[in-house]
Amino acid sequence: MILFIGVLPVSGQNAADYIQADINLIADGQNVPAEEGFLSQNNVILVPIHTLHSIFGPSFEWEFDGWKISILYGDKKLVMYTANPNCLNGDKLVRLPARPTVHNDAVMVPLRYVAEELGAAVLWSQEIRSVMVSTTGETEWFSEISRGKTMRSVHKNKTVVIDPGHGGSNPGAVYGNVEEKSLNLKVSKILKDKLTASGVAVYMTRTDDRDVGLYERAEIANKLNADLFVSVHHNASPNTSAQGVMTLYYPSTDDSVFSGRKFAQIVQKHLVNTLKTRDWGIIPRPELVVLRQTRMPAVIAELGYMTNKAELQRLVTDDFQEKAAQALYTAIMEALQQ
Ligand SMILES: [Zn+2]
Repeated sequence: MILFIGVLPVSGQNAADYIQADINLIADGQNVPAEEGFLSQNNVILVPIHTLHSIFGPSFEWEFDGWKISILYGDKKLVMYTANPNCLNGDKLVRLPARPTVHNDAVMVPLRYVAEELGAAVLWSQEIRSVMVSTTGETEWFSEISRGKTMRSVHKNKTVVIDPGHGGSNPGAVYGNVEEKSLNLKVSKILKDKLTASGVAVYMTRTDDRDVGLYERAEIANKLNADLFVSVHHNASPNTSAQGVMTLYYPSTDDSVFSGRKFAQIVQKHLVNTLKTRDWGIIPRPELVVLRQTRMPAVIAELGYMTNKAELQRLVTDDFQEKAAQALYTAIMEALQQ
């Protein structure tokens, strides 16, 4: 159940490349979001150094002069360099498993190496695609979180409504023998399982092939007083070369709260990072019923174009559906922290 970070699957990449790692970081039982995201190189996870600072607290001191990175914690001193695998650990020269770098203006350092040197325990859980860090070295909660148990207490009051678009007499987009309604339902079911395993209460507006009215879908979410509403769709266009993902939201004027727009940004970010496809961005759609009538942050995720031959071939695969569900799952978990 608990595997080491070294087994993170990275396919078709040059091992020396930095790639975006769509994972969660859980430190001392709490989810730790990183705005700059996480990277991996040689299957090693790198995290922003200020994220480590937030995990280890004020006694974690660090400095960066544009090249040299110094970390001071208790009597431990680590000196490393961007684009360089060498690390001065006290007076010992060691070779890092990945080279520190700068990404989105953040200094990125190898998580496991630094955390373990500072006395923390680190484990990778493939099941919830999370790196777990215990600064005290106490690890009993690791297996509980992997099984979704402790997260259940973190998220036990959260409700998410998943809305598989169309259904019944309304197939949505149809291309060849593929109907949008069934693609929407497949991804939604995988997403539901992931959220349920993390302790989130999930309600689906339909779990089989049936008609559900648009107002009824919104009303279900309002009655449950849900925290988030996610409608799953696939796109179609007269332009058959169009490919990629977009996220739709209802434009509200109050941006001081966690709005549909902010939720849409998180969803779109994870879809683009995970599916590595064209980014159409987030799009305000004030006229769409499920977005307008819902009283919580709501999005419609358009996972790809069924009208594009190459993309349609991808959309019908288990691999794509798993990745799309994983991206939505990670986005929802991040949004529930807001
Ligand atoms: Zn649709």
